[in-house]
Amino acid sequence: MKELVVISGKGGTGKTSIVASFSTLSQRKVLADCDVDAADLWLILEPRILRRESFSGGRRAQIIEKKCTACGKCQEVCRFDAISFDGSANSLVKRTYRIDPIDCEGCGVCAYFCPDGAIDFQEQINGEWFISETRNGPMVHAKLGIAEENSGKLVSLVRKEAKHLAEEKGLDLVIIDGSPGIGCPVIASVTGADLVLVVTEPTLSGQHDLERVAKLTAHFGIPTVVCINKYDLNPEVSATIEARTEEAGLKVVGKVIYDPAVTKAQIMRASVVEYTGGKVAEDIKSLWRHTVYALG
Ligand code: SF4
Ligand code: SF4
Repeated sequence: MKELVVISGKGGTGKTSIVASFSTLSQRKVLADCDVDAADLWLILEPRILRRESFSGGRRAQIIEKKCTACGKCQEVCRFDAISFDGSANSLVKRTYRIDPIDCEGCGVCAYFCPDGAIDFQEQINGEWFISETRNGPMVHAKLGIAEENSGKLVSLVRKEAKHLAEEKGLDLVIIDGSPGIGCPVIASVTGADLVLVVTEPTLSGQHDLERVAKLTAHFGIPTVVCINKYDLNPEVSATIEARTEEAGLKVVGKVIYDPAVTKAQIMRASVVEYTGGKVAEDIKSLWRHTVYALG
């Protein structure tokens, strides 16, 4: 079983449209939507949820105000400066301590040392993940809670469950819609994958983002190929990207023309290759064939 991850240096390059088309073109695969901040794939594929689970990114500490005796032990032991002496009064003291949920790293040391059992240290539910059926096959996807940070842990979980599902169903491939950027979630999306396809666009920032992403995948030793989306919008920059990519030892496996049909397909909740038979669809089909070839 192989894992193909489609990523981009930033959002808005058309990565998800390409993944949606791949889902139409491929057989015997599981889809994994690891773009958990902007999980757009489900908008196109309209999944029917078969299983729904809570996701916990870890524990967080919270002071139970009425029990706090303001001894200050918790602040003394917290290495992350997450505790301040500005909580409300209770029946015991005029001021209590307070934990900032953003600064708390969930190490649990304060709860361990609190002499009065005044710190609650519970698992936090940060989101949900799902196993669904779509018209293009099974899909694992997730949703982070409002104001929760994008989590590498949730991305890893989605990948692991997608792999499980593929093994269980005897399928050969997992296609992953990866997180954008170069931070922790994208690292969680690509590590250990068989092939990364980077989708870029012909702008200077697209070129810059591609170079950063390519450095990242090279660092982790993951075979990487490139697609230039909307290449005809700026043929000069496209040519530069192509040349630089090859200089870096990577291959451009496809170039996809700009076509407003891509947006129309999204509005109609269809993948591009489902929606149109035009040149853009031909480009994506060719990209798919070359990507499969690179996957081996
Ligand atoms: S260690 Fe416990 S009792 Fe002491 S200040 Fe912190 S929360 Fe309050
Ligand atoms: S759990 Fe750890 S990081 Fe959070 S407040 Fe307690 S000691 Fe600080």
